[in-house]
Amino acid sequence: MIITKKKDLKDILAALEGKKTVYLFGCDSCAEQCATGGEKEIKEMTAALTERGFEVVGSSIPEETCYRQLVLKDYKHKKEIESADAVVVLACGAGVRTVADVAKESQPVIPALDSTFLATVERVGRFFEGCALCGECVLIDTAGICPHTECPKGLLNGPCGGVADGMCEVDVTSPCAWVRIYNRLKEQGRLHLMKRRKPPKDNSVGVRPRKTLLRGEGSGHEAGHGRKKQ
Ligand code: SF4
Ligand code: SF4
Repeated sequence: MIITKKKDLKDILAALEGKKTVYLFGCDSCAEQCATGGEKEIKEMTAALTERGFEVVGSSIPEETCYRQLVLKDYKHKKEIESADAVVVLACGAGVRTVADVAKESQPVIPALDSTFLATVERVGRFFEGCALCGECVLIDTAGICPHTECPKGLLNGPCGGVADGMCEVDVTSPCAWVRIYNRLKEQGRLHLMKRRKPPKDNSVGVRPRKTLLRGEGSGHEAGHGRKKQ
């Protein structure tokens, strides 16, 4: 799940300067769970903008705002979106990008949230970063705990010298990622993996923007293009 936090309202108001009518997009997936882009937050944003003289002409909360087809459906069926001076999106950066791609080029699309990290969800309202999407996964050797993400120093080959009573010297409220990896591997009878040296991360693997094309143009599966299945 993508974690988001609310931007300062004054930044959104500054971006809307000179505009009168606004359409709002929320997101019924990650942003709803983060309490940043669900029905309640859309209502709050509507009230905040109305109070400051804007006319909120409508709102949508697609199931997933990063899904182009869902956003397109709203643009197709709700004519008030295109007529709005600006669109404010209460979703992650991928959601904002999706709306911006569907909107006509002359329509400003303003993000209302900051996207912070990809999280595992312990339970509602408790989110932890477990993967930094490096593109070169080492979890096969580390018992499912990512040192690249969960060790603040990103150490890939065992702990630093700062571990104190099993706790991290940087984030003193959290157990050292490498102590957790060691303990879990020990339980699994796979401690030999601690000795398997991991090379430095190949940052070229994560060069942005990344894409995966499983279907359609450029995927290699369309007729007459690319590599075909034998
Ligand atoms: S090594 Fe860590 S950051 Fe990289 S893909 Fe695996 S879990 Fe994600
Ligand atoms: S104490 Fe452990 S988790 Fe913290 S920085 Fe050192 S190795 Fe990383």
